[in-house]
Amino acid sequence: MKIFLDFDDTLFNTAAFIGVSRSLFVDFGVSEEMYKDAWQKVREWRGLESLSYDFEAHMKELHKKKDFDDKESRKKVEDFYRERTREYVFPDVEGFLQKMRDRGNALYLISFKTGDFQDKKIAASGLAKYFDALATGPEEKGEVLRQFFGENEEVNGCFVDDRLHQIESVKRTFPKIITIHMQRREGRYHDESNESCDYVVSDLEEAENILMER
Ligand SMILES: [Mg+2]
Repeated sequence: MKIFLDFDDTLFNTAAFIGVSRSLFVDFGVSEEMYKDAWQKVREWRGLESLSYDFEAHMKELHKKKDFDDKESRKKVEDFYRERTREYVFPDVEGFLQKMRDRGNALYLISFKTGDFQDKKIAASGLAKYFDALATGPEEKGEVLRQFFGENEEVNGCFVDDRLHQIESVKRTFPKIITIHMQRREGRYHDESNESCDYVVSDLEEAENILMER
């Protein structure tokens, strides 16, 4: 089977990671409020409903509000990303991925992004080695998945994501795919599940039990 997994809030504790990222700037005189407001400004200015994180744009906006040492703060952020990103991978992830691989499934990481920050985060997470392929981009995931199925291929797959609109997109494109709506306690988004979600789980152990029975 082909198993497609989302990154943020599915494999990665993005809320906790953002919380710490925010606190890194306090030493430079940037309050957490200021940090949040600056990012909010970027979002409004871009006018996109969903936008993945753009570090450069965020820093530019932050510098308008407050004069702080750009070089020093960048170094601090880069050190944090490099040394500590792995700590934010949920504890059930590596065991799950290894087991799924051992059972002969092909694994694909399908992540939404609009800048190159997401690629850096994924690389620093140390998870890339478990996947047959990684796909990151701004497209709806139903479209993204097309490249992984041949023209006449029987669709035997499972898609796991915390965002309902992505599940809907995949279900619309591949009605036969098994969809699992990930709703972790620590997740940032808690959309109500609907008929596009074949299953709803709160961790990967539950997802594993579902896949075992198939
Ligand atoms: Mg997600």
